[in-house]
Amino acid sequence: MKKLATGLCAIALLATAVQAQTVKDFLAAVMPKWTAPFEPFRLIGNIYYVGTDGIAVYVIKTSDGLILMDTAVPQVTGMIKDNIAKLGFKVADIKYILNSHAHFDHTGGFAELKKETGAQLIAGERDKPLLEGGYYPGDEKDTDISFTPVKVDRAVKEGDKVTLGDTTLIAHDTPGHTPGCTSWEMTAKEGDKDRDVLFFCSGTVALNRLVGEPTYPGIVDDYRATFAKAKAMKIDVLLGPHPEVYGMQAKRAQMKDGAPNPFVKPGELATYVSGLEQDFDKQLAKQTAAMTK
Ligand SMILES: [Zn+2]
Repeated sequence: MKKLATGLCAIALLATAVQAQTVKDFLAAVMPKWTAPFEPFRLIGNIYYVGTDGIAVYVIKTSDGLILMDTAVPQVTGMIKDNIAKLGFKVADIKYILNSHAHFDHTGGFAELKKETGAQLIAGERDKPLLEGGYYPGDEKDTDISFTPVKVDRAVKEGDKVTLGDTTLIAHDTPGHTPGCTSWEMTAKEGDKDRDVLFFCSGTVALNRLVGEPTYPGIVDDYRATFAKAKAMKIDVLLGPHPEVYGMQAKRAQMKDGAPNPFVKPGELATYVSGLEQDFDKQLAKQTAAMTK
């Protein structure tokens, strides 16, 4: 029995080492794109893109100040601030900072921006401990994917509303990618049309462990429920925390004065989520096979 326990412990240590190397390799691969600049622009209605080439960050202009949706990795907080200024906005006018999910690549600038603006941070209830602890769920000690802890001023759950001036966003619980993963829905006026916009939280497996000692208990059921929920949502504009979720660059290149806005694409969410679901099943099978080896 003792021998078995020691063996299991060694396996656990090895798994941790492999995980740490995976994280380092992952970061080395994605960081160049995540930190590459992208020219800010008005995306649709009162929504503006102020992120990088690899991480999406948005500003929503309301009649009573600005809402910031996410930040990026801390290395580019200055770039995000410059992008906001380039559009003629003042960083000091940010009243609310909303979060899609508590991963370092979307929260890395929170502490700095919150301190600078006094803005209120609003995030999914189940992500509150992660934001206030500054860690990746299930990998509390991995400093490669940690971030400066930040106080959550308001925690939201399904159906909660956030209003600033003339703009209201509705929170939708879409857990899995993180336990408090929150998709935000709002209406954007484009010309004389109202468009239903969804800032989809995320549904990729990323660095999450689905089996054995999962990233958090119930993670697989959460992903499945989120896929079903998202597929049933009717929206006109899909946005997400990374540009590749909705082909931002290609659509941006298609934008033309007087032409229909290429970001309006009803049905795109369902197609995207079907792809996520297929990838999830593959990853789940792969992780299960690795467990039983
Ligand atoms: Zn993430």
